[in-house]
Amino acid sequence: MAIDRRTLLHLSLAGGVAGALGLKSSFAAAQQAGSESGVKWIFLGTKGGPRIGAGRSNPANVLLVDGVPFVIDCGYGVARRLVEAKVALPSLRYVFVTHMHSDHVLEFGNMVYGAWSAGLNHQIDAFGPVGLDGLAQAFWQSMKDDIEIRMPDEGKPDPRKFLVVKEITESGPVMAADKVKVTALRTPHPPILERNYAYKFETPKGVIVYVCDSAYNPEIAKFAEGADLLIHEALYVPGVDALAARIKNASTLKEHLIASHTTTEDLGKLAAAAKVKKLVMTHLVPGDIDTISDEMWMQDVRKHYSGPLVVARDLMEIAL
Ligand SMILES: [Zn+2]
Ligand SMILES: [Zn+2]
Repeated sequence: MAIDRRTLLHLSLAGGVAGALGLKSSFAAAQQAGSESGVKWIFLGTKGGPRIGAGRSNPANVLLVDGVPFVIDCGYGVARRLVEAKVALPSLRYVFVTHMHSDHVLEFGNMVYGAWSAGLNHQIDAFGPVGLDGLAQAFWQSMKDDIEIRMPDEGKPDPRKFLVVKEITESGPVMAADKVKVTALRTPHPPILERNYAYKFETPKGVIVYVCDSAYNPEIAKFAEGADLLIHEALYVPGVDALAARIKNASTLKEHLIASHTTTEDLGKLAAAAKVKKLVMTHLVPGDIDTISDEMWMQDVRKHYSGPLVVARDLMEIAL
């Protein structure tokens, strides 16, 4: 059946594309994932930045709603961490990307490819800023030889028809399906001012707001007002000099970090103003200095916010 990507998108938003293509439904995907009921967020990578190290992995998360996986950000290591979290790659159903910094998209294509190589047989809807579709097309181009050899050789379907990218161009509703409503909020992350989004996930068990990355933005307090879970990036200012000194050929890295991220103290102000029921700090910058304890991460947040507070770790799970 010849259906172009725009038609796919339209059908997808209408909720009818799986049937139109004769593909498995999300329900089937959930069955494949184990059909675990409930709402659960798993942190797959909790360190900010593209640097690859032995400790925390790069930014990635998965939200499971009655077994249907929503992957949020696809930093290096996301596919392996999904396997470690016991989320079957062929069960992936939705992907959300906050912005095009490499620590959030480096494994976007690889992850979808990994799902296909493990037996993917349904659509994956991916949402993100302008640039995400170009990344997908470039990835398929880079893997063209491999894919076109394996399809006849291994009797596999064409993976390119499974990935449908919808680029977001403004704040507002993004999608509503599989018991989840998702809303985006544009938030500044200098020098990225336009193509960067926070997401709100309204699930049957509560509201989760994910902000990663963002400069301090008081609008987040309204967007996240009363959320059951605010998952927000955090910058530990005393650690920034040590980080910048360690990375050669990055003369303006310190200035970038301060201008484009949210300090732990400002994060405390946001969480207090939003009256969130729980705050989780992730995308830790610097996230690979072991001498920065959880207590150090939390101390400036605590100046303003006295509610439940967690410093995320890879493979940590939070159920609603
Ligand atoms: Zn980042
Ligand atoms: Zn970023």
